[in-house]
Amino acid sequence: MSQTDFDVVIIGGGPAGLTAGLYSSRAKLRTLLVERMIMGGQVMTTTKVENYPGFPGGIDGPDLMIRFQEHCQEFGLETTTGEVSGLRDEDGIKVLTVDDREIRGRAVIITTGAEPAKLNIPGEQEFTGRGVSYCATCDGAFFREQDVAIVGGGDTAVEEALFLTRFARKVYIIHRRDELRATKVLQDRAQANDKIEFLWNSSIQEVVGDNSGMTSVTLADTQNDSTRELPLHGLFIAIGVTPKAHFLTEVLDLDPDGHILTDAECRTSMPGVFAAGDVRKKILKQIATAVGDAAVAAIMAEKYLDNFEN
Ligand code: NAP
Repeated sequence: MSQTDFDVVIIGGGPAGLTAGLYSSRAKLRTLLVERMIMGGQVMTTTKVENYPGFPGGIDGPDLMIRFQEHCQEFGLETTTGEVSGLRDEDGIKVLTVDDREIRGRAVIITTGAEPAKLNIPGEQEFTGRGVSYCATCDGAFFREQDVAIVGGGDTAVEEALFLTRFARKVYIIHRRDELRATKVLQDRAQANDKIEFLWNSSIQEVVGDNSGMTSVTLADTQNDSTRELPLHGLFIAIGVTPKAHFLTEVLDLDPDGHILTDAECRTSMPGVFAAGDVRKKILKQIATAVGDAAVAAIMAEKYLDNFEN
């Protein structure tokens, strides 16, 4: 195995990647985790995680992720920064293109997660960072005593709307239907909050602004196609996520939305390559399920390596 640098290479440093790293390094496999930017993934932009077991009263997302990292360090997980743009199999050895270098491993676990989905409407890109944001936790404090809106009807939209009420004067939740997808407990909290107003059956057609930033959105009524302008200082987009598996389109089997397809043991269509967390096609995307997947993927990678040796 002289040309093989690592037993296991993990791509992505969110909850799934760090869990895979914990299991794999604890199993004494030489393991490298490659992260593009900062460790922790999407949880780093989550204010309070209330539904991860073991933390009654909740824990701040970044604090939880620091614990994950410290736990991995105990077992000697190696990490590096870099963006993976390619994966190929050379006689059973997996070769990853990471920026301008190549890293080799006998097994790979993909835990690249997902990124916020875009509305793809006029003005969205132009005013990103000048009113339009995909992260209330990151940017909410810039909108003190201002009017903002969040678009979406899922858990993220409602959680972020509640968070924004700490700063904003008014928070609209703009949803394309007349019923939320978010869990009941979050819905009840939002309904009870005086700062939140729901704009049902509404879709955003355009973000409008000037040199100073966004000033309004054009809203369309989904039931009769009438439109109106809603003056706003900020627009937060929380309409779900897109899996980060673009670099694997030609390499692995993906579903039409770009999630990696796996079996129940987290095996992808390439032997020795496993996937865990939000990048994988599955029914529920939570920290708890990412952690569960990653444990399975790491154990299956270990078994794969045992067979590989033999
Ligand atoms: P989500 O559950 O997929 O919700 C996306 C929302 O955006 C839906 O209401 C959807 O509308 C709307 N939407 C999608 N595309 C749209 C478009 N082009 N224009 C307008 N609206 C659009 O996504 P999420 O809220 O990010 O949650 C993702 C996963 O993470 C879920 O499993 C969620 O339970 C989980 N999560 C959990 C927590 C927690 O437990 N504390 C917190 C955050 C997220 P429709 O309803 O009409 O489809």
